[in-house]
Amino acid sequence: MPGLAVVLVGNRRDSATYVRMKTRACEEVGITSVQHDLPAETSQAALMKLVAQLNADDSVHGILVQLPLPGHINEHEVLESVSVTKDVDGLHPTNMAFLAMRGRDPLFAPCTPSGCIELLKRYNIPIRGKRAAVLGRSNIVGIPAGLLLMANDATVTMCHRYTPDMKAVLQEADIVVVAIGKAEHVPGDWIKPGATVIDVGINSVDDATAKRGYRLVGDVHYESASKVAGAITPVPGGVGPMTIAMLLRNTVDSAVRAFGLKE
Ligand code: NAD
Repeated sequence: MPGLAVVLVGNRRDSATYVRMKTRACEEVGITSVQHDLPAETSQAALMKLVAQLNADDSVHGILVQLPLPGHINEHEVLESVSVTKDVDGLHPTNMAFLAMRGRDPLFAPCTPSGCIELLKRYNIPIRGKRAAVLGRSNIVGIPAGLLLMANDATVTMCHRYTPDMKAVLQEADIVVVAIGKAEHVPGDWIKPGATVIDVGINSVDDATAKRGYRLVGDVHYESASKVAGAITPVPGGVGPMTIAMLLRNTVDSAVRAFGLKE
């Protein structure tokens, strides 16, 4: 059985929800998942000791340390302590470096941007030779999304909070990936007519009419953008489930490699 170890430090409600969705998806497809819940005050040394144990455990093919970690823990050091061969989140610097290099393949690419590319491919949206814009440059989404689009032969413009006139950049973009964490920030009139819009953002906004008192929206203003775009992902239900699917795929790939199988 492929095995995934999920490590959750602290009790952030959103992180707990994401972890629950991931372990549930594992159960559905027959991946053994073991969740390790550690208190928020866990030391970095204790966390890295657990990671070392999981690195050495043959029944574990993937290790996922849910981010963000509490402020007293150095995220970079923890991610670097995960074995490159079990790094199913694709966030180890070696995997990230291979992703950035021509002629090298990472063992794993980060799940969320991989899910964006998979969506484009499954919907037969051409990437080669197209202009793409990525909004946001985080290690977990924006930067690897840009690298993956470039690896798939798009011409990529990376935008971030210091980019002047993002609208002008977007007007040229056939593919737009938005990952900035700002509710409904990108209006429809920024989008080039017919462009493909992939909205990675997940933001909760107060909504007295909703059962829970809030609702989830993306970084793109869906209502106006969907009138202009040729294709657009909804929030929730677009990129989120793809992130989980890619995690499952990475875990199975890792097990296949560990068992020495061909495919
Ligand atoms: P982050 O905060 O680490 O990075 C945000 C990036 O956006 C930064 O590079 C920043 O420079 C840029 N930015 C911020 N404001 C901007 C602005 N006004 N204009 C242009 N750029 C701006 O966030 P992240 O971890 O990359 O996550 C981004 C969003 O995606 C969040 O809403 C997060 O919840 C969501 N997310 C979703 C999934 C999923 O599975 N769907 C996975 C990861 C993150």
